[in-house]
Amino acid sequence: MKVTDYLAQAKGETLISFEVLPPLKGHSIEAIFETLDPLMEFKPPFIDVTYHREEYIYKKTANGFYEKTAIRKRPGTVGICAAIMNRYGVDAVPHLICGGFNREDTENALIDLNFLNVNNVLALRGDARKFDGKFIPEPEGNQYAIDLVKQIVDMNNGNYLDPDINQGKPTNFCIGVAGYPEKHFEAPNYEMDLEVLKAKIDAGADYIVTQMFFDNKHYFDFVKNCRDIGIDVPIIPGIKPLTREYQLNSIPRIFHIDIPTELAREFSKAKTAAARVQIGSEWCLQQSKELKAAGVPSLHYYTMGDAEIIRKIAEEVF
Ligand code: FAD
Repeated sequence: MKVTDYLAQAKGETLISFEVLPPLKGHSIEAIFETLDPLMEFKPPFIDVTYHREEYIYKKTANGFYEKTAIRKRPGTVGICAAIMNRYGVDAVPHLICGGFNREDTENALIDLNFLNVNNVLALRGDARKFDGKFIPEPEGNQYAIDLVKQIVDMNNGNYLDPDINQGKPTNFCIGVAGYPEKHFEAPNYEMDLEVLKAKIDAGADYIVTQMFFDNKHYFDFVKNCRDIGIDVPIIPGIKPLTREYQLNSIPRIFHIDIPTELAREFSKAKTAAARVQIGSEWCLQQSKELKAAGVPSLHYYTMGDAEIIRKIAEEVF
């Protein structure tokens, strides 16, 4: 079933959903099940699975030089989606990115998903590879998420890349896209970032999932600003608890978001790992309660190694 159908069916009641990352190469899928098994008591209607493209690493060779190699550290998105649907009977939402795919690769990936009865996809551009400096699309690849949305919409209309395919079987993908309550870091300004988001919706995207935020005001303002420019699709807030000492700096650096002063001060003063978890959990719990009280479509938790902490938060909210 489509994410938007679940949201419509809920008739304003807030749902719960989760995002998981494929395990590092060499690890078993059990890591995913260990994350999700305890969260199933909340009956999430859908679970997102992230996609991780290849990264460049430098390996020292026998003669002392460094060799640049591309490796994929977290493959398996499609397989994990199939395993989730099979094990839990819950819909999986694979993330699909532009980076590393030409349009033919994208079409073939969507055909695989369609054959597996995966009818949801989160369409993203992806980030630049570490040593590229800026995002570089593949030759014949999609440059922006909107181009990927358009390709999926084309397939939903039965139009495949090969013009010789007449009356191609239409796919039936529900398309989510990313939104940034604190602006995407590359956008020249907030207004232009919102215009790009509106363009993704006008191109056929069905709903939005937000970047994480630690201050609900960012989300509420974002929703209002979206509504003001005519974006009328569901906007699902993505959140996570702050749990580890290094995240105080790594989250702002990686996700380009702010940690509110009150949370950051309290968190930095904490003396133990347990105290930090307590502070971060309490903050996330209050965020969750306020968002649910405001009637958000779903509380979408980024699990990121914190499934047990999230389970305890969810227990108090749902
Ligand atoms: P876009 O919507 O294409 O926007 C990228 C930038 O280009 C923005 O600054 C935008 O303002 C600008 N822009 C867009 N269209 C145009 C245009 N036509 N003309 C000019 N400028 C334009 N990354 C992964 O690699 N794997 C994942 O699984 C993953 N999951 C994510 C899930 C969520 C909920 C979120 C919020 C992000 C996720 N990301 C993931 C990260 C995402 O790929 C990056 O944030 C990426 O930098 C932007 O992706 P996007 O889809 O928002 O891009």
